[in-house]
Amino acid sequence: MSGSNPDHFRRRLLQGAAATWLLSVSGVGVAAPLTSVIGVRVWPSSAYTRMTLESKTPLNYYQFALANPDRIVIDIKDMHLNSVLKSIPRQIHSSDPYLKQVRVAQFDTNTVRLVLELKQKITPNLFILPPVAEFKNRLVIDLYPSNSNAAEAGDPLLALLKEYNQGALEKDQPAPVVQTKKAGSNRPLVIMLDPGHGGEDPGAIGKNGTKEKDIVLQIARRLRTLIQKQSGMKVYMTRNEDVFIPLKVRVAKARKQQADLFISIHADAFSDRSARGSSIFALSTKGATSSAAQYLANSQNEADQIGGVSKSGDVYLDHTIFDLVQTATIGSSLKFGKEVLGRMGRVTKLHRNKVDQAGFAVLKAPDIPSILIETAFISNLEEERKLKTAKFQQQIADSVFAGIKTYFATLKR
Ligand SMILES: [Zn+2]
Repeated sequence: MSGSNPDHFRRRLLQGAAATWLLSVSGVGVAAPLTSVIGVRVWPSSAYTRMTLESKTPLNYYQFALANPDRIVIDIKDMHLNSVLKSIPRQIHSSDPYLKQVRVAQFDTNTVRLVLELKQKITPNLFILPPVAEFKNRLVIDLYPSNSNAAEAGDPLLALLKEYNQGALEKDQPAPVVQTKKAGSNRPLVIMLDPGHGGEDPGAIGKNGTKEKDIVLQIARRLRTLIQKQSGMKVYMTRNEDVFIPLKVRVAKARKQQADLFISIHADAFSDRSARGSSIFALSTKGATSSAAQYLANSQNEADQIGGVSKSGDVYLDHTIFDLVQTATIGSSLKFGKEVLGRMGRVTKLHRNKVDQAGFAVLKAPDIPSILIETAFISNLEEERKLKTAKFQQQIADSVFAGIKTYFATLKR
């Protein structure tokens, strides 16, 4: 990202100063304070393409569509073209399924115009995100395919993302499902793997630059390969590419597939670099069972504010009707977590010897036993090195898989 380069930043300041001076001598009057874009990121994925413009002050935009050919026009007010904006066309991948090209120009004295040329009919979703963590003000431009029936039939992710954007995921949650058919006897055991973070949200970053989102995807793919070879089991992933998926969409996807198990995979950082070892979490409806659990749950839940619209309200835990189901589900989560933790303890050091509990948003499906695995601390130098190795990744995948099989066997008894 060129925005972090101090030289670029200095140049932008100079550009801004020169522009203001030109305006005042040409007698245009008092110019509105100028904003500048300090970072641009483009994340193409099969589900949607996201473009993020980042600025130190909130961006003021106006958007409309043009047809023949299909384009989306975005005017940004109080803005001058700078090197960051000029870099946008170079950031568009030829393999992007939705975005063909972007043109950037100074439309009038104080307006920069972005013209997004599209490869197919798009439903855009633009929104503003306030500063959080190391991110400043952001304008997020999400491009969803308009005609996506075929894509949705194979994978409900796109439909769920749309429902989420329309706020429908908050309101219309299906009642908890109690599976009548026993997994393994007359239907397969359905497992949803959830590699944490993705896209705009890198998760934790190690001292040597290792990104949590990449490592956990690799581990999830190894685990998926093991499950795919096993008869009587079916596996899905909440994401299988570098894309941002909101936490509630991950849970909704598991419920849509009527998953029997939900396994979220992470490798977070801790404030103390000496902290190490694996841990496993189940949902707590009361409070965290350790301070590390509280710390990790908070940072994990905050990730939603980095990548997407932060939605308030808790559709599940407030309803008494869900409580009984939820309590039983947490019991199963603890049982499953214990099976996995025991196996992981044979191949790596454990941070805690028992399954921890905290209010992770991603574990809140009331009817699906769910665990969150912290495979290791990426903030620990030794563990960062280990996380990158095929050996460690495979050991974790093997341990989780063995845990699944044992848990599954106890269900059938
Ligand atoms: Zn994480």
